[in-house]
Amino acid sequence: MSSPAAEAPTSHAITVEHLSKSFGDHEVLKDISLQIDPGEVVCVIGPSGSGKSTLLRCVNMLETPTSGRVVVGHHEMTDPDVDLDAARRRIGMVFQSFNLFPHLTVLRNLTIAQTKVLGRSRSDAEATARKNLARVGMADRENAFPAQLSGGQQQRIAIARSLSMDPELMLFDEPTSALDPELVGEVLAVMKGLAAEGMTMMIVTHEMAFAREAADRVVFMDGGYIVEEGPPSRVIGDPQNPRTKSFLHRVLNPMVIEPEEILPDGMHDAIRDLAP
Ligand code: ADP
Ligand code: MG
Repeated sequence: MSSPAAEAPTSHAITVEHLSKSFGDHEVLKDISLQIDPGEVVCVIGPSGSGKSTLLRCVNMLETPTSGRVVVGHHEMTDPDVDLDAARRRIGMVFQSFNLFPHLTVLRNLTIAQTKVLGRSRSDAEATARKNLARVGMADRENAFPAQLSGGQQQRIAIARSLSMDPELMLFDEPTSALDPELVGEVLAVMKGLAAEGMTMMIVTHEMAFAREAADRVVFMDGGYIVEEGPPSRVIGDPQNPRTKSFLHRVLNPMVIEPEEILPDGMHDAIRDLAP
């Protein structure tokens, strides 16, 4: 073969190899290895504090891994010589908080990074913004200010803003956790649409029904480890590891309290009264 072995281009969208991350002497990620293919939708689930956000933030180097390797597309993120700004331009990130500029219209919120970071002309940026507003069902609100929109609409704008940078992949960290329950569905619908279009997505979420429906793969994390991963029908529908089972049991049956759980006086009775 004539192709030089040294280039060995990875066909994965994201490769994480033996990643560890400590804050002081607290090791929050322990030897994590994970590959995500182009077009794949991976949902990361797990209890609070298990390291989900830290893993996501290591993918675009918002956190610097203590050891291990992260590759995104052709960018060696953990190479000290990598052009991180260039690499991050290819990675969209959506957080629980939308972080829209309150003093700018929806349209300006979507064009500002396109003109300042990508150097697009204002008219090109506006055309791209309008295309992406349509994609999230917000085409008619380009002149609104964020405060005039519901949380669900603001999160859809934040997704459109991210899409306007033409990302190769999108990272979502609990994008619906700050929303009132009746506004969650519209954001999940937009994300399902992106999945159907073939966007590569890594999504930290507690929305198990969404993960079951939209994910190609579910990764369950606990205590800084990937404990179990596989198709949602298996990890959520038929978990094998006792920790996965116990987490899902708690998430899917929030009113069921196990007898051994330590609760303040009276809480067991109160919850028993509430349970169906
Ligand atoms: P998750 O997203 O699964 O809830 P995180 O990745 O946010 O978990 O956090 C994992 C652990 O790392 C937690 O114990 C958290 O307190 C700790 N942690 C996260 N970020 C920092 C930080 N910047 N400094 C110190 N500890 C942190
Ligand atoms: Mg988190």
